Amino acid sequence: MLSGNQNTRVPGRLFEAAAYASAPHSPVYWQTTGRAGQAAASLTEEHKADVVVVGAGYAGLHCARRLARAGQQVIVLEAESPGWGASGRNGGFCCLGGDLRGLESIARRWGEGDAVHYARTQREAIAFVDEFLFQAGLADSRQGHGELCLAHHPRVALGLAAQADALDRWYGVRAEVLSGEMLAARGMSVAGSYGGLYYPLGFGLQPWDYVQALAAQAQQDGVRVYAHSPVLELRRDRGRWVAVTPQGQVRATRLVIATNGYSSEQLPSWMAGRYLPVQSQIMVTAPLSDAQISAQGFSTDVMCYDSRHLLHYFRLLPDRRFLFGMRGGFRAGDDAADKRRIRRHWRRLFPAWRDVAVEYDWSGLLCFNGHGMPFAAALPGLDNAYGAFGWHGNGVALASYSGHLLGGAILGEKNTLPAVMQLTPQRMPLPAQRRLWLRLGIRLAGLADALGR
Ligand SMILES: Cc1cc2nc3c(=O)[nH]c(=O)nc-3n(C[C@H](O)[C@H](O)[C@H](O)COP(=O)(O)OP(=O)(O)OC[C@H]3O[C@@H](n4cnc5c(N)ncnc54)[C@H](O)[C@@H]3O)c2cc1C
Repeated sequence: MLSGNQNTRVPGRLFEAAAYASAPHSPVYWQTTGRAGQAAASLTEEHKADVVVVGAGYAGLHCARRLARAGQQVIVLEAESPGWGASGRNGGFCCLGGDLRGLESIARRWGEGDAVHYARTQREAIAFVDEFLFQAGLADSRQGHGELCLAHHPRVALGLAAQADALDRWYGVRAEVLSGEMLAARGMSVAGSYGGLYYPLGFGLQPWDYVQALAAQAQQDGVRVYAHSPVLELRRDRGRWVAVTPQGQVRATRLVIATNGYSSEQLPSWMAGRYLPVQSQIMVTAPLSDAQISAQGFSTDVMCYDSRHLLHYFRLLPDRRFLFGMRGGFRAGDDAADKRRIRRHWRRLFPAWRDVAVEYDWSGLLCFNGHGMPFAAALPGLDNAYGAFGWHGNGVALASYSGHLLGGAILGEKNTLPAVMQLTPQRMPLPAQRRLWLRLGIRLAGLADALGR
């Protein structure tokens, strides 16, 4: 066992230390305005459990909860506090998605049936979170209905009708193609948009309140959640997993890795090279006045994003602040250049608000996998070890539901996870250089966006 004064930094992480620093660089709007964080002690001494789960975000907590409700002794170890990772600081879009490939490509590569199952799982995931919020007394915190995708390039606008057909085919949802005039009439005016596609699936939520309610429910269901308990080492000992934290350790029959963008190369070493943390950044403005809202012509409470690969995502919040997020940053933490960049993009898309104050901005890590698909399954080649990670920036719904389904699979119940979510993420080429690949990928994505490809 390590003593408390040893270095508690989790080894083998890919981003600079600021990305994993305990204190937020600037306050996260959700946490400042949301409910108090769920209390949890840190782990001391040696404990035994049936299952040890690493990571207290949506995936780890839902998995733990399902196991505990079936009578398993479950311990969740969290490096910081429940919801500290992406689950407590995302955009709150409870929506479709979870992969980089798209359903057509998944169907071509792995078969139509598997793609259909995966699409159905995404829909079920939204309903699953909806049901959880209802049970937790948070139904009123849901906001808006459906999502709007805005075409950022005339070439993309030409393909909207085909995209509407694809949404119908895969998800059974009737999407509406909206012209520029129709967008303006619905209070959805965004500069540089060439039309949009609205589909009535998904809703906005308060991500911090959701994850805190989840942590509370998990504890009520018997899960022992420990905060400030980073797992520094994982090893096998006499047929058990041993998870070592600075001041304690857990011996458990089974191990679940639910660390997503905050994963590290050697926890366990199987993870090395298979995932890529990617930064996403958010800013929130001061509340907007009626005059400001009508000057921009944007008053909808529908969740919106645009068709860029380096996408912008945005919502008008219930207190009339505006949340604007984007991908494409290279550093995580308090990067001044990234802050200037997000303001530049926001002002270009919402010119009427160029003088509105920005009161919050923060960033966090999401996770891409080597094969471009989310993963929730046993870790091949390791005894009694499982993982749930790689939601490609769309984990509010899918991480939640996948954690829950993985819990069922671990219990030996019928495994209802789609086969395409159980494929092993490959190691990326030259894994040590993968942040350089990311930089190159961001450049190429920017070029494709400029060309509307
Ligand atoms: C800025 C931003 C905006 C986003 N917006 C959206 C959105 O609007 N809609 C959407 O669907 N998705 C969004 N996402 C993605 C979504 O938030 C994530 O996919 C989801 O929260 C992942 O949940 P998780 O439980 O898998 O991981 P996380 O919530 O990241 O939890 C992983 C946890 O593991 C812990 N951990 C890591 N290593 C260790 C260790 N060694 N020991 C102990 N604990 C450890 C971390 O501290 C962390 O709390 C966004 C992400 C970001 C960063």
